[in-house]
Amino acid sequence: MIDHSKGHLAVCGGKPSFTAKIHVGRPNVGDIDLAMSRFKDIFDRLWFTNGGDYVIEFEKRLCEYLGVRNCVVMCNATIALEIVARSLGMTGEVIVPSFTFVATAHCLQWQQITPVFCDIDPVTHNIDPSRIESLITPRTTGILGVHVWGRGCDVNEIDRIARKHQLHVMYDAAHAFGCTHGGASIGGFGDAEVFSFHATKFFNTFEGGAVATNNDALANKIRLMRNFGFTGVDRVDHVGVNGKMIEVCAAMGLTNLDHVDHFIEVNRQNWSLYENGLKGVPGVHLCSYDPSERMNHQYVVLEIAENCALSRDEIVKVLHLENVMARRYFYPGCHEMEPYRSYFPHARLLLPHTERLTKRVMTLPTGTAVSTADIARICDVVRTACDRSQEVKAALSALIG
Ligand SMILES: *Cc1c(COP(=O)(O)O)cnc(C)c1O
Repeated sequence: MIDHSKGHLAVCGGKPSFTAKIHVGRPNVGDIDLAMSRFKDIFDRLWFTNGGDYVIEFEKRLCEYLGVRNCVVMCNATIALEIVARSLGMTGEVIVPSFTFVATAHCLQWQQITPVFCDIDPVTHNIDPSRIESLITPRTTGILGVHVWGRGCDVNEIDRIARKHQLHVMYDAAHAFGCTHGGASIGGFGDAEVFSFHATKFFNTFEGGAVATNNDALANKIRLMRNFGFTGVDRVDHVGVNGKMIEVCAAMGLTNLDHVDHFIEVNRQNWSLYENGLKGVPGVHLCSYDPSERMNHQYVVLEIAENCALSRDEIVKVLHLENVMARRYFYPGCHEMEPYRSYFPHARLLLPHTERLTKRVMTLPTGTAVSTADIARICDVVRTACDRSQEVKAALSALIG
């Protein structure tokens, strides 16, 4: 990091704060030597996939960690979401938030299930249960909630609505590995929950995902679908796909699982540093977490309110010029991406909170790759840019002009 005096901004003609780009979602890695010895072991055994020892051990360890009866690991969360929706027999329409990563909608559309976008609660950023019932039609078969930023959905209310209308419930828990809701580990809610272990998630297996469920019959069906529907050698009893996790990924998962508490602790400290560093900047709000829940703090989320001197997009631009690759999340909402934008051109009329938040929310870098000094400098940039908003706005329009 270049040692700049306070007040220096790249947008106003100075050198960037960082010589190399700092990205959101750099991977956290546990003991590399242990990972390497496991990889070596995979080559020694010459067993790369198809229910290998590491996959079996990883599933067992995940069940213990999450406190669920069944964990089925997969090649990624997107395939896992598709398999869960199919295993539950979801068809027709499924109610889902638009304020999420696009895979949540795609997992339905990919199998001709219509995602019906539901607005979110402006405080929690999660699907607003009070808006679900008005979206239910005779074609509705389920609800797909997303625990956005790791903060649990209103699972009790969603459960109540689902029972009343005989709907299936699944959760995209891609953000919520290691988090609790109401003191209970996320993983056991709804019919099934899906985690992502993508490299950008705080706990990764290079790429990967898992389905957690306490329903044994459902877990068996999901296992079949993960492996072409094979029930035995030369015997297929179900339509299926190839969703298997390979041994190398399971070995990485086992290695990182030993360090998951450390990753969480680093993220928690980073989050506190951001909270202190950004305190008192008008209109810049750090998304907060319920201190009584366990949180992974995978994302440092800023909401830029109307009274901030700069817009969200201006702050992101200023940070990019400093080589801080802050991200607009989720931008745009799924309903503004194709094919949904063409299919449902008026969806935004029903999604006022989603529309507002997609223009106001951004994420900042965290994880083990980001240092205390980095965070101090990032906070300083945001504060200084807001303090000198007129100068910054003029510099930005000169850049564009
Ligand atoms: C990352 C993510 C996914 C997709 O996970 P993959 O493992 O990359 O397929 C799905 N939903 C949400 C909310 C995500 O953040």
